[in-house]
Amino acid sequence: MTAALYALRAGKSVLLLEKSAFGGQIAESPKVENIPSIKSISGMDYASLIFDQISDLGVAFDMDDIKSVIKEDGYFTAKGEYASYEAKAVIIATGCKPRKLAIKGEETFLGKGVSYCAVCDGAFYEGKDVTVIGDGNAALSYALSLADTSRKVAVCTLFDRFFGEESAAKALLKRENVEVIHDVSATEFKGDAELRSILFKKKDGSSFELKTDGCFVAIGQLPDNSRFEGLVRLTADGFIQVDGAMATATAGIYAAGDCRDKKIRQVTTAESDGAIAALSAIAYLNKLETHS
Ligand SMILES: Cc1cc2nc3c(=O)[nH]c(=O)nc-3n(C[C@H](O)[C@H](O)[C@H](O)COP(=O)(O)OP(=O)(O)OC[C@H]3O[C@@H](n4cnc5c(N)ncnc54)[C@H](O)[C@@H]3O)c2cc1C
Repeated sequence: MTAALYALRAGKSVLLLEKSAFGGQIAESPKVENIPSIKSISGMDYASLIFDQISDLGVAFDMDDIKSVIKEDGYFTAKGEYASYEAKAVIIATGCKPRKLAIKGEETFLGKGVSYCAVCDGAFYEGKDVTVIGDGNAALSYALSLADTSRKVAVCTLFDRFFGEESAAKALLKRENVEVIHDVSATEFKGDAELRSILFKKKDGSSFELKTDGCFVAIGQLPDNSRFEGLVRLTADGFIQVDGAMATATAGIYAAGDCRDKKIRQVTTAESDGAIAALSAIAYLNKLETHS
């Protein structure tokens, strides 16, 4: 949306394609407190602010899951589930999707106790006992918001500490209904029609079963860029390689945000990438026009 903002303000015609919800991952965060000039805001409200801003500038948008991008006769065609879309330049900003634990029962209890989004599903566990698996910012954010409404929150981490923001970890440790269980790895989700418990393995090899009504898995994000292979170069772990101008291996295709190879994945860094990618795409389009 930031890339769209810059391109629209440069007078370009912009089509924003989204497969699920405008705003992406940040719309899943109940509270965002590290966006300069905004002390505290829900991720959903923040996403709406940007969407309003680009709507006022006349952005065109469509809901579709883009399966591939091909180059034909100087145009790029993005092929979606429902339609194909043509453009002279493309900015890929597909972000990441949740990493799964890949353990027994995870698929069986998906939507029946296992979730990857506390904002989406947290309300179903009001007054109940929930578990959060993970040790980063997303896990901390999930645990803090669940602690407001759930009876008890168990936070289970693979190592002996959190890797997210210190202030969030400190805030979590102050909550009376939160129990932190370090040095454990989940091995199985168990239940009947719904999730009832999780099996964990301790460092010493012994196991224990934790009763729970719901489990929120927040163990990181994975890119989903294989569909763009051929036009862009990917790192071994699937992130898109770009230069400082956010340009990919193909002239006219840019990548921005969490989908690209970088160290820090945050709203501000995604927005920065979006601005750079758009300005690069604008320069590319202007050059095309000059030469045509
Ligand atoms: C729970 C949680 C809390 C967080 N809290 C913070 C925080 O407090 N502060 C902070 O700075 N960052 C936070 N982050 C990280 C931040 O949300 C991300 O770094 C940021 O959203 C990345 O933006 P992005 O646009 O690159 O990708 P995303 O937000 O992942 O957006 C990508 C979008 O592309 C869409 N998409 C993907 N593939 C396709 C396709 N093939 N076709 C069509 N559409 C597609 C997706 O549906 C998605 O909407 C948090 C993340 C999570 C999960």
